[in-house]
Amino acid sequence: MQTNENKITYLIKFAELALKGGNRDGFIAVLKRNLVEMLRGTRAHLDVTQGRFYVHCTEENAPAVEDVLCRLIGISGWAKTRTCGKTVGEVLAACVEEGLALREKGIATFKIEARRTDKSFPVNSYVLCCEGGGAVLDAVPGLSVDVKNPQGIIEIEIRERSYIYGNTQKGLGGLPVGTAGRGLLLLSGGIDSPVAGHMMATRGMGIDAVYFHAYPYTSEEARQKVLRLAEIVGRYTMGMRICTVSFTKIQQRIKENSPLPWSTVLLRMAMMEAAERLARRLKCKCLITGESLSQVASQTIENITCTQSRLRLPVMRPLIGIDKDSIIRRAEKIGTYETSILPYQDCCVLFSPPHPVLRGEVKEAGTFYEALELEELITEALRESITEKRGFPG
Ligand code: ATP
Ligand code: MG
Repeated sequence: MQTNENKITYLIKFAELALKGGNRDGFIAVLKRNLVEMLRGTRAHLDVTQGRFYVHCTEENAPAVEDVLCRLIGISGWAKTRTCGKTVGEVLAACVEEGLALREKGIATFKIEARRTDKSFPVNSYVLCCEGGGAVLDAVPGLSVDVKNPQGIIEIEIRERSYIYGNTQKGLGGLPVGTAGRGLLLLSGGIDSPVAGHMMATRGMGIDAVYFHAYPYTSEEARQKVLRLAEIVGRYTMGMRICTVSFTKIQQRIKENSPLPWSTVLLRMAMMEAAERLARRLKCKCLITGESLSQVASQTIENITCTQSRLRLPVMRPLIGIDKDSIIRRAEKIGTYETSILPYQDCCVLFSPPHPVLRGEVKEAGTFYEALELEELITEALRESITEKRGFPG
């Protein structure tokens, strides 16, 4: 119910296709839990009526609510809606107000779409569209109807009340975070890995992260940058735990005890081993990396085969077939790009050999790797790791 305090109502549309079938109720329950959590601190309240979500808030809190809706994974769209009683007169009056609002935004053409879940409403959807269109045309000079390619759409829904809205925003889509288990993201300070984590989150995966730090070769600023990235991605995923693991000793042993061209591949193998052990501890079901095929020497198919050759957990690489420009666009959209391009060096760059192996052979990789006897160093690094929380709502 609306009160005087709650003057604004947002209507939320589920990502319907994904929510079809027997799992629908379960998905909606998770989506609801996520939204309630994300709204914590906004003083808005969620109302679930006939399988629809409505968020009520004051004018003052509307920006915070819109910010939440822009980050809510699992919805196809949302709109600030007018609500009124179920008489034709009230609905047409609301259409006119919506028409005025469209014109104020510089929109010149529109159409009306109507849905009537309450079949006892006296006129059907078609008639409602015609009458709504007529009322807007009469009252709002400068607006004309274009059914094929309108600049604006006024939607009418007759449910337990009438909802009229003209400005549906596209949601992030995907499946609600928490419907597909958890994954451990190998999060570096680069552009790619935050995008990879976000992409898995849009498939419903909860995300934790691990960052391999090589102090003093990499600075505290570099670590703070990674924590900031965890914060930004965490705001879509109901927060994330991020574990900083010091890899300085491991990097030194690799540098001193293996052929230089192999150092990056061997470092990646060590990161994967440490990440897998951490994932089991955090109950994560897979690893996630920002690798993209052939983007750099360590990401040829042969070297990727080496880095995963000793793992049991699956490795998700959502960017594997995506080019850098598209990855950058995604990074800009989710808000990580500006932070990712800050200049602090990542440990791999500092240890990169001038002529890395391009097509490592798994057996050879295994021989070099075993000779390093890293198990104890990895155990120690994990024991001394620091876990922090970032991006949790409220
Ligand atoms: P990114 O932009 O994500 O840093 P990249 O293009 O720089 O990726 P690499 O440096 O080869 O590529 O790293 C490949 C992947 O390995 C990264 O996307 C990330 O998942 C993981 N990774 C690399 N360095 C680290 C690190 N220091 N800590 C955690 N994960 C890392
Ligand atoms: Mg990197």
